[in-house]
Amino acid sequence: MNKANSSQERMEKMLSLTKRRGFVFPSSEIYGGFAAVYDYGHYGALLKNNIRDAWLKHMVQLRDDVVGLDSAIFMHPTTWKASGHIDSFDDPQIDCRVCNTRMRADHILESFGISADKATLEFINEELDKLRAEKKLKCTNCGSTDITPAKRFSLMVKSNLGSPTDALSEENVVYLRPETCGGIYLEYKNTLDSTRMKLPFGIAQVGKAFRNEIVARQFIFRTREFEQMEMQYFLHPSEMDQKFNEWKQTRWNWYLDYGIPEEKIHWYKHEKLAHYASDAYDIEYNYSILGGFKEVEGIHARGNWDLSQHSKFSGVDLTYFDEKRGEKFIPHIMETSTGLGRQFLMFLDNAFVEEELEGGDVRTVLKLDKRLSPIKAAIFPLLKNRPELVEKAQSVYKDLRESFMCEFDDNGNVGKRYRRQDEIGTPYCITIDFETLENDTVTVRDRDTMKQERMNISDLKTFILTNIN
Ligand code: ATP
Repeated sequence: MNKANSSQERMEKMLSLTKRRGFVFPSSEIYGGFAAVYDYGHYGALLKNNIRDAWLKHMVQLRDDVVGLDSAIFMHPTTWKASGHIDSFDDPQIDCRVCNTRMRADHILESFGISADKATLEFINEELDKLRAEKKLKCTNCGSTDITPAKRFSLMVKSNLGSPTDALSEENVVYLRPETCGGIYLEYKNTLDSTRMKLPFGIAQVGKAFRNEIVARQFIFRTREFEQMEMQYFLHPSEMDQKFNEWKQTRWNWYLDYGIPEEKIHWYKHEKLAHYASDAYDIEYNYSILGGFKEVEGIHARGNWDLSQHSKFSGVDLTYFDEKRGEKFIPHIMETSTGLGRQFLMFLDNAFVEEELEGGDVRTVLKLDKRLSPIKAAIFPLLKNRPELVEKAQSVYKDLRESFMCEFDDNGNVGKRYRRQDEIGTPYCITIDFETLENDTVTVRDRDTMKQERMNISDLKTFILTNIN
């Protein structure tokens, strides 16, 4: 039975677990913290890297039509002029005049059932005025009704890279990239020239992005520094519908494959689209700790806007000559874009279970997909004070850790060690006992069923590898 029910209760438990067990720490905590920035501790970094590697495996390794890239965070300032980010990558901000709390006007309107997706500032202010007249527009922090009108707040994060004279001019401001796909567009031509790819093909990358988010109070769901996993797929416009549907299915299957139940995700179709886009869907996951469905991934058909703009602003010809069609055109693009932190939070949220055991005890388990678990096996000597058991356990541990992440634990009784491993989602616990010394067998305990089976040491590696890959 899962004991943690309300979203607030689950959030508190999750925050406590992730901090206590070293998954996620608030950044710069000894200086009082730094809003909306987080650090990943030992287990968190391992889990995050496993999610990233799984994504790369499915998006690049197992495909013939997608290649990888790792482009820089700093890019030529004109990149963001061409992409439209400098002029319009912003959110509508309102402030409480009493306690100075900042809020996103579109989110406030959405909480009243008014869709403000891609809405103009004029529309947003008209709707806010209506709520104001009815005294419904209130500060989310102190409840005051003294709220400013909405204004545009740029999400772009400036740096001071470059020479001091350059930095003075607005045109030369170097930004921290707000999304990773900018680098993909700029390396489209180099990728085409340096690989044997032909349209349709994709470029995938994982990397940091930075946004000056107005409101960022949902743990790692919305942070100012985050990682994105993005894939841009270049194609002839006639292929868009088919490829768009194929990628929708492919990405949907990713969630099911990694243990997200179908009823916890759904599609959100964007009704209002950017002028160049022809279709846009989000996959939303029902974050129990955030109290409902929220975007985890976007799948968007973007027309040929991106390459056309970069071609126009750079003066470089980015057309593609399609030999089969005998046609020259600027490729159209569809993208899949997801946040690594949001995936991390989704997998934690889905895996976090409190189970009541016989006798009334409660165990906390992270029922993560075994491929994603930070530690794959924990190795215990039955007793800490018996050197022959410790020595044997050490030799098993040292052998297994050559193949996957393992942990050695001889602290406390075996029951307590099981609980510690359950909390971090370790699929297998291996105990070396007196029988091991006689016949080289060990007990292997399964995280989910809690059943133990006896196994030869020589079979351990293959058994675990088959189950974690
Ligand atoms: P939202 O509406 O939640 O602000 P968005 O539509 O602006 O997201 P995109 O620009 O489409 O997001 O970015 C693609 C993906 O990057 C999102 O689906 C999300 O997983 C991730 N992402 C975007 N902004 C953040 C952020 N501030 N923190 C963490 N992940 C983010």
